Amino acid sequence: MKKVRGIYIKNSAEIALMREANRIVSVVLDALGEAVAPGVPTMRFEEIAQDMCRQFGVQPAFQGYGGFPYALCCSVNEEVVHGFPSRERILREGDVVSFDMGVVYERFYGDSARTFAVGTVSDAARDLLDATRESLHRGIAQAQPGNNLYDVSRAVQEFVEARGYSVVRRFVGHGIGRKLHEKPEVPNFVPSGMAGPVLKPGMVLAIEPMVCAGTCEVEILEDKWTAVTKDRKLSAHFEHTVAVTHEGPVVLSVS
Ligand code: MG
Ligand code: MG
Repeated sequence: MKKVRGIYIKNSAEIALMREANRIVSVVLDALGEAVAPGVPTMRFEEIAQDMCRQFGVQPAFQGYGGFPYALCCSVNEEVVHGFPSRERILREGDVVSFDMGVVYERFYGDSARTFAVGTVSDAARDLLDATRESLHRGIAQAQPGNNLYDVSRAVQEFVEARGYSVVRRFVGHGIGRKLHEKPEVPNFVPSGMAGPVLKPGMVLAIEPMVCAGTCEVEILEDKWTAVTKDRKLSAHFEHTVAVTHEGPVVLSVS
């Protein structure tokens, strides 16, 4: 595979495989969203994700990645990312729950995330989810050939901060392909003093704003994985895998 500044350029056949990997992720996320309700233990979503991976004949991408124990990252309320599914954690009315899912199909990775409301949530929680989803779409719109990568970052950051929220610095989006995490890093903020790469057709990016109601500072719990907001205020996470093409950005992680 060709590389530009260390970033793999995928051909159309490779992008077609990535489209299928990501379509499967999207179908899993659809099913997880359907199952969200008060009273459901979060381990139930892990079971659904595992079952669906078996049915599709794909490997869960996260299980075993760096030692992560589950197929699904399941993060509730103040948990930002990398939460563990649990039999003890029961969803309650008013919670928000983020699912981050990845699979490997024909050696290519899919990666996408969505945050769902559990039953009726506060206006503040609803607004945070809406703003985070919209910031992702603002970022995706900038994933154009000839744009700078940080045009994506800037679009996310400016939208989020204008709404009075903050973007997480500690975790970022990424290139994706035959590896889950490839170059380049895709920050949700504009790094100071750095020139980002120019986007070219064939680059594939996982764009994934992690947005907090309060501080953007996070800390890691004793399980060594679960990232929570330092002030324990709500956080939301939406992610799409997006191909940069001659025709503009193409979202691959759709059903
Ligand atoms: Mg992800
Ligand atoms: Mg990702």
